[in-house]
Amino acid sequence: MTLPSVEALRSAIGLRTEEAFETCRTALSIQPHPDDTEIAAGGTVAKLASRGVKVVYVTVTDGGAGTMDPSMPWEELVRIRKREQEEAAKTLGVSELVWLNFRDSELRPTLELRNRLITVIRRYKPDVILTVDPWLPYEAHPDHIAVGLAASEAFFFSNLAGVNRSDLEMGLEPHTTRYIAYYWTRTPNHYVDISDLIEVKRRAMSMHKSQFTEEIVELLVRYSELLGLRVGYKYAEAFKILNPLALHVNPFAEIL
Ligand SMILES: [Zn+2]
Repeated sequence: MTLPSVEALRSAIGLRTEEAFETCRTALSIQPHPDDTEIAAGGTVAKLASRGVKVVYVTVTDGGAGTMDPSMPWEELVRIRKREQEEAAKTLGVSELVWLNFRDSELRPTLELRNRLITVIRRYKPDVILTVDPWLPYEAHPDHIAVGLAASEAFFFSNLAGVNRSDLEMGLEPHTTRYIAYYWTRTPNHYVDISDLIEVKRRAMSMHKSQFTEEIVELLVRYSELLGLRVGYKYAEAFKILNPLALHVNPFAEIL
């Protein structure tokens, strides 16, 4: 007996990775900190926005831990990082920013976090959610793992009326998001050619002045170049795109 191909396994659950970005009209990027989306998916966001896709950022933590300067007050850094994020998002063509304001560096994948994300998903009704892959080996940052896990749960549960029922009382309805696109992933199944957008991405990353020196920005650009080498693009961003049927009792999800 021959094993089914990856294509057959994908087709069995209706997973068409190309479709996720090509057909979407609203994209929600659920990021741990101000700056993550620019680094991991800035070119993709710019590409979507230029096509008229409504892109909404949901930033989960306030970013107040991101400094090595002991004299920098937490609240002051939060203000600076919000401003930097607003400017970077504007550069990429992002439509709207949502701030959940959890405390930076202390995030856990709690029920509260999951339910807050479900409410946001039901409000904006995205076709695709971009977020961190929480199963990246050696990822040590708790905020990244927590956001990836909570966003996966929220993606999976936001269409169930019985979950976070208080949303329904607020007039929100259950919503099915067709795809989740994980960035910083070990097993990408989709690459976006961002060769024409690398300068916009570089500019957006450079706006996070409190976080990155020019050397770091160049290193991050280099990552896009290295990802591109895998698929023959000059610069690329890599995603693991899955649908709800891949995210539960699916023993093949890793290879999809
Ligand atoms: Zn981060």
